[in-house]
Amino acid sequence: MYDLPMRLWLIRHATLVIEYGGHKLLLDPMLDPVGARGPIQNSPNPRNNPLVALPVPAEELARDIDAVLVTHTHSDHWDATAENKLSREMPLLCQPEDEQKFRSLEFNHARPISKSATVRGTQISRTGGQHGTGDIAKMLAPVSGFVLQATGEPTLYIAGDTVWCPEVEDALGRYHPDVIVVNAGGARFLEGDPITMTAEDVIRVCQSSPQSQVIAVHMEAINHCLITRADLRFQLEAARVSQQVAIPEDGDWVELRS
Ligand SMILES: [Zn+2]
Repeated sequence: MYDLPMRLWLIRHATLVIEYGGHKLLLDPMLDPVGARGPIQNSPNPRNNPLVALPVPAEELARDIDAVLVTHTHSDHWDATAENKLSREMPLLCQPEDEQKFRSLEFNHARPISKSATVRGTQISRTGGQHGTGDIAKMLAPVSGFVLQATGEPTLYIAGDTVWCPEVEDALGRYHPDVIVVNAGGARFLEGDPITMTAEDVIRVCQSSPQSQVIAVHMEAINHCLITRADLRFQLEAARVSQQVAIPEDGDWVELRS
């Protein structure tokens, strides 16, 4: 199909190192030590977060990258250690609503992506999403996803913190991604619907975009993500879409189909 110079390295939860177009991006850095923060408020399974340690030292991750890409700034996507360890000189790409926050933290190279931008030869387009349903989704908004496109690279869609919704369906139809990263875990509060993808949502992504390879992350690192990798694998197998989905462990390089 294509050479796959793109490489994806799952660090933990939604934090990935993405080698793309000859550059190394750090996505959604949550770099706190294990147990550094309390549980998510009003959530089930109240345990301190993150639940698990980083597979590599935060300093190493912060040192060896070209830019940072942040889908939104909830604490499981941007935390105190990221704030402390990442260079203020680092290019940082974000949704427009978060630019001010990064500027006030003196990340002077924060660059909002409203619709799309070309960064060193890679086209980065912002996509929408819904972080839950109804009032909860409104309260948690805004969230973004990003699509990366570059000559010779597969099209990569990072869906971000969203459930299956029209915005995701639109992105699949518009960009025809080769690879899709979905935030699973079925995160939830004590009340209301899940705020990140459940197994059913991941199955809908697979069925709506059968040519894509799906990478499921955002599991087993934050207390209110209740769907484990084993739960997800079981349901994907039952729906006969498991061949389409990689479920990496923390610290794994993702195995991509060629
Ligand atoms: Zn999240």
